[in-house]
Amino acid sequence: MTGPDRRLAALRGQMREWAADLRPLALEIDRDPEAVRRHLDLPALRHLATMGIPAEYGHEPERIDGHRFHGVSARERVVVMEELARADAGTLVAAPGPLLAGVAVGLVADQRQKEWFYGRMLSEPLWTCFALTEPDRGSDAGALTTTLTPTPRGALLNGEKRYVGNASRARIGVVFARGRRGPLGITAVLVDTDTPGFRAEPLDMIGLRGARIGSIVLDDVEIPEEHFLGRHLPATRRGVWAFVQTFNLLRPGVAAIAVGIARAAHDYVTAHRRVLRAADRDRLDTLDRRIDATSRLVWQAAAAVDARGTDGHLASAAKLRAARLAEDMTLAAGELLGPGARLTHPLLDKLTRDARAMEFLEGTENMQKLNLFQGLLGGKVERDARRHVGTQ
Ligand SMILES: Cc1cc2nc3c(=O)[nH]c(=O)nc-3n(C[C@H](O)[C@H](O)[C@H](O)COP(=O)(O)OP(=O)(O)OC[C@H]3O[C@@H](n4cnc5c(N)ncnc54)[C@H](O)[C@@H]3O)c2cc1C
Repeated sequence: MTGPDRRLAALRGQMREWAADLRPLALEIDRDPEAVRRHLDLPALRHLATMGIPAEYGHEPERIDGHRFHGVSARERVVVMEELARADAGTLVAAPGPLLAGVAVGLVADQRQKEWFYGRMLSEPLWTCFALTEPDRGSDAGALTTTLTPTPRGALLNGEKRYVGNASRARIGVVFARGRRGPLGITAVLVDTDTPGFRAEPLDMIGLRGARIGSIVLDDVEIPEEHFLGRHLPATRRGVWAFVQTFNLLRPGVAAIAVGIARAAHDYVTAHRRVLRAADRDRLDTLDRRIDATSRLVWQAAAAVDARGTDGHLASAAKLRAARLAEDMTLAAGELLGPGARLTHPLLDKLTRDARAMEFLEGTENMQKLNLFQGLLGGKVERDARRHVGTQ
């Protein structure tokens, strides 16, 4: 089977129902990303606020048709992301919750750090951020320069981060910094954003504005030793490993958001241009088949990372195809609706801007190609594809 089983089909059905609340918010949150605060009681946003917190930390599961969901598997996240992004990707990324930071915590935090982080996430809807990118170091994240200077009680954090989702509203951040030279010198730390010296400002973006992308200045931010993530692990399993694995696990979900945006644009054309010339109908049908094929690839990639977190090569293929598809589909939608469509259809204009942002989120197309190429050279892609074809 290359699609959801009955349990995940039940999750899809529920998400589709909850997603209906998001579409009416799309343009409001695009204009003012802070407007999401007025809608935190919507079931979809409440689900996202705790999605990914394991049961053992007191997370009550979402119960749907007799099944229980904690949102910890890549396949669960793919179902949620595709359905909610089809309604509105901007509102989806505007939601509070542990997402990227939570995956990093799940991978490298010790027991007490998990209790602290998940405990705060369960006490109220909180935004978190995952701060890796720096003003001059995006794709080349391993060369980051934010420093972590030891003190008797921990360390001082200094540097700058940029293009960080939810930076200005996050209450907790996972921040990557360098304690010493070399790839093993990078460490992730948990930061309480109320700590003096942490300043974050939103940036004025044109796409995926709901994500409230921001810049962060870190000026002698005190980090207690107990907030060093992975201090119980060898150096090879902390900094670089932590962000590479976080991306591996989340990449299918990011690809699913792009598929959701493509489906939204396809739905939009179908709803607004009921009569199409034969050539336009063919073009739309071809894109529809591409959407379904990409969705299947995303599914396969999610199954691969669920089976083994290091199997992120298929996910790179899925992410690059999905991001390109979202862009092609939204641009085609504009052409199919005729001249000036983006002026007369603000929602389509927004979808086109959101689609463009997907290229950068979690690594550009070139970075995904490099990862995929390394996997192909090492024979891993073929092995993963063989292993996961037919996986539920
Ligand atoms: C919506 C959105 C949300 C984001 N959220 C976060 C977040 O929460 N946390 C975070 O830390 N960051 C986040 N980012 C930042 C994102 O990860 C970076 O934008 C991305 O890694 C690219 O970095 P850059 O923008 O500096 O581009 P650059 O790295 O400067 O790349 C520019 C161009 O050069 C190409 N390029 C770069 N290096 C190579 C190479 N070696 N070979 C071939 N081509 C190359 C790239 O493919 C790209 O086309 C977000 C970005 C967006 C748009």
